[in-house]
Amino acid sequence: MATLRFFALKELLKRKPMYIDELGKLTSNYFGKNVFDKAKMKKFLSKEAYEHVMEAIEKGSRIDRKMADQIALGMRAWAIDNGATHYTHWFHPLTDATAEKHDAFIDLDSAGGVVEAFSGKLLVQQEPDASSFPSGGIRNTFEARGYTAWDVSSPAFIVGTTLCLPTIFVSYTGEALDYKMPLLKALAAVDKAAVDVCQYFDKNVSKVTSNLGWEQEYFLVDEALFMARPDLMLTERTLMGHSSSKDQQLEDHYFSSIPERVIAYMEDFEREAYLLGIPLKTRHNEVAPNQFEVAPIFEEVNLANDHNQLVMDVMKKIARKHNFRVLFHEKPFKGINGSGKHNNWSLSTDTGVNLLSPGKNPRTNMQFLTFLLNVMKAVHEHQDLLLASILTASNTHRLGANEAPPSIISIFLGHELNRVLDELEETVPDKKMTPDEKTSIKLNIGKIPEILLDNTDRNRTSPFAFTGNRFEYRAVGSSANCASAMIVLNTVVAAQLKKFKAEVDGLVEKGIKKDEAILQTLKKYIKETKNIRFDGNGYSQEWVEEAARRGLFNINNVPEALEAYLKDKSIKVFGDNDVFSKIELEARVEVELEKFTKKIQIESRVLGDIAINHIVPTGVAYMNTLIQNVQGLKDIFGNESDFQELAGDRLDLIRKTSYHIQNIKNKVHDMVEARKVANKEEDAHQKAHLYDISVRPCLDDIRYHVDKLELIVDNEMWPLPKYRELLFAR
Ligand code: ADP
Ligand code: MG
Repeated sequence: MATLRFFALKELLKRKPMYIDELGKLTSNYFGKNVFDKAKMKKFLSKEAYEHVMEAIEKGSRIDRKMADQIALGMRAWAIDNGATHYTHWFHPLTDATAEKHDAFIDLDSAGGVVEAFSGKLLVQQEPDASSFPSGGIRNTFEARGYTAWDVSSPAFIVGTTLCLPTIFVSYTGEALDYKMPLLKALAAVDKAAVDVCQYFDKNVSKVTSNLGWEQEYFLVDEALFMARPDLMLTERTLMGHSSSKDQQLEDHYFSSIPERVIAYMEDFEREAYLLGIPLKTRHNEVAPNQFEVAPIFEEVNLANDHNQLVMDVMKKIARKHNFRVLFHEKPFKGINGSGKHNNWSLSTDTGVNLLSPGKNPRTNMQFLTFLLNVMKAVHEHQDLLLASILTASNTHRLGANEAPPSIISIFLGHELNRVLDELEETVPDKKMTPDEKTSIKLNIGKIPEILLDNTDRNRTSPFAFTGNRFEYRAVGSSANCASAMIVLNTVVAAQLKKFKAEVDGLVEKGIKKDEAILQTLKKYIKETKNIRFDGNGYSQEWVEEAARRGLFNINNVPEALEAYLKDKSIKVFGDNDVFSKIELEARVEVELEKFTKKIQIESRVLGDIAINHIVPTGVAYMNTLIQNVQGLKDIFGNESDFQELAGDRLDLIRKTSYHIQNIKNKVHDMVEARKVANKEEDAHQKAHLYDISVRPCLDDIRYHVDKLELIVDNEMWPLPKYRELLFAR
């Protein structure tokens, strides 16, 4: 029997690396060619229009209509020069992907022909028929209007023949329906709060930028094999498959030489990314077979996130050209590493200072300690929100599994920095400092850079690690929109910085000198954040127990985690910083709950189909060949005394095969019944909960029996590409 699997494997043998022709060109010659950046604006816009846009970018001022027309004209001229025929508002709805609806640059003229057209009105704002995007009930169907509005802070770019304008997406009544709008608000909040705190140290600071460097992990699977796996096609994850005899045990994939077909693919998508101004810097093999990573040079968070979304899109498109499929799912394969998207994050000033980097003298180091401890305090205070921002149906498979952080937020600081904080806690007095104490503390603080520079120890098991000049949030999932985590992190840090300023100012008002007030407050924070500091092995069971003793959250359950958004404390922190209203939070939670439910529902249906239509018939067919064999033996040896001995193992196999088939059928039936019960539930939270506790476990039960059958059934008959093929064939 020729299964699709064997056809796919035959295809695979024909694959050759496909290098692109123009290789060898200097990257700097074409970097950003497809981006309407400042240099191009200067060339294509009038001086007045250019200055207007610059002001909007730098100060967040509004683009006025008359100017918008001028800008549109210049932008269109550039776009058409570069082969664009269409334009689109490009946005980040609350799905797992970006959205675009293309319109041609044409209008009818009075003579019945068409002219190229693009007005300021179309540039600045649009009203897509967006009723099919998740809104969590904010837009009733009769009020399905949503608006997209141009985000000037992220430059327009051309993909193929389409000019793309990064936009926010809001409801008619102004509520955010996307990831970008709240992200911009969170970034504005942290900018303001951080600038205020910076005034203690440097009056020249007038802007603080939040930076993000994401590390994107992914798997590649040959397209033919992918097409022969309905589970991968529809859910991006294998819902069945016995582990391969060899996978990552030998640790021979990580950082090893990149396979030729893969490097050809990487070079191709990197080139596309460079054209789009995405500064990709690093590429390497990851731990699991066929797993890889790409990372750029860090950028401002909003731009970095647009670039991440864009690069994922580019990677998907280019993969098809190379007969690959790229998997961004957090856990495509059971039993081996999953994929994350480490979010490297820092704050920097317009005076060129990284606020999370130790400085050169006591003053800058006090500033560094201030920001370090405020971040720690914010993370400690809102661990639950940080978890809620990254937990999804797919990421829960990864967290707590092979080489992934658990669903517990802890902070790694490294030996030296821990020592600095411990010392500060001991030496800063609660009462007024003597001049001697002051000098000695300042001296110690001044020494930080020397000890840190040579001592940036690393701990790969920490979900939130300080890595010398930034924090690295490692629990973020590979398929996530970074904005989800970045909204929370920047908001809670903004809130904390405001609190810090209020506390210090309060002490100053009581007559305490500013520096002492700062040190005393930091000392208090050191005490209060102690139990979130952890430098040990975050993957160990001991840590899970220890974290429980310390009272840290450990939530690996999406419906429960999402509740964090609706606690009074969270509503207040988002409200006070003008990031989310209560309505927006409720809507968001509903969208996330629905996403969770639907993902499990889809997985459950797909697994049901494959189990009943692919696996059971294969098991039966195999059983029939066994039965035929036993029947034949019986015809020949039926009367001999050793018949039992001759056919015993096959009789045994018939029983085993039958046992697993029976179980698959029963458990698929149970799963369908569990779904029916859950589907009747109206409340989104309760429904997600039922899917979590009664449908999800069935997936594992069914898989167990399918994987057992895979070990028994004739390899020639097995219809689905096996793990060894998915992971090693390329
Ligand atoms: P790793 O050793 O963790 O792989 P890399 O040096 O490859 O670290 O950097 C990972 C990411 O961190 C890159 O995107 C890099 O640009 C980014 N990064 C470096 N410094 C900062 C910073 N100060 N703020 C934010 N991101 C940063
Ligand atoms: Mg890293």
